[in-house]
Amino acid sequence: MEYNFYLAFATIFGLLVGSFLNVLIYRIPLKKNFVNDRSHCTSCDKLIYWYENIPVISWLFLKGKCSKCGASISPLYPTIELIVGLIAFLLFPKLISLQSLTSFIFFFSVACAFLVHFVIDLKHKILPNGINIYLAILFLVHSIFTYSYTYWLFGFLLGFGFPAGVTWLFWVLRKKEGLGGGDIKLWAVLGIILGPFGVLHNIFLSCMLGSLIGLPLIGLKVISRNTRIPFGPFILIIASFQIFFPDIFKSFIRLIL
Ligand SMILES: [Zn+2]
Repeated sequence: MEYNFYLAFATIFGLLVGSFLNVLIYRIPLKKNFVNDRSHCTSCDKLIYWYENIPVISWLFLKGKCSKCGASISPLYPTIELIVGLIAFLLFPKLISLQSLTSFIFFFSVACAFLVHFVIDLKHKILPNGINIYLAILFLVHSIFTYSYTYWLFGFLLGFGFPAGVTWLFWVLRKKEGLGGGDIKLWAVLGIILGPFGVLHNIFLSCMLGSLIGLPLIGLKVISRNTRIPFGPFILIIASFQIFFPDIFKSFIRLIL
């Protein structure tokens, strides 16, 4: 009974965090203040009241429309809220202890940062520095207490150096920009938690995944050869398996290597 109460509390907390992540996803690319400013309708600028801002419920109640001008509110908002609520529900520890709750907060924070990165890169083709720095701090705190310094330091150096070197070579040989700076920074940051081998696995597999999805789209002329496909989502999908499902990922690596 008591456990279910905490689980419900964590899930509601997740829905509310999802609502905040929507604000971040909307405002970070516009370089707007996301702490003090109250939310406004993006069409008519009407102030959004607290009761119009209840995760999922308000969107359903307003039937996905602004109460003043009737402009439609993207279903992406309640979807993000539901996803984050679900993440909190699934990650919440089976046994509550100080250690399990600390680990819950860590993994939940990583999942939230990944989600914001994922959606912003899909929509705007950028991986904001602020999110990379936030992730770097989270990973560094975790890794300092978990691994030897060689693990996270070499992971970081390789995560930066390898893709940066390939991009440089590509540029020298073909005068074309290979990977974006944001992608390279994300790999450097991921190297801190994945270690040198983990980050190489990520680079290799996310490039594979990118080609598996990108090449058919070029073949079917959905996109042209010169369209810049946001690469962050592929990196983040592979990293999510590595961080949240390490056993499945290890079995997969053993299968293909
Ligand atoms: Zn409006």
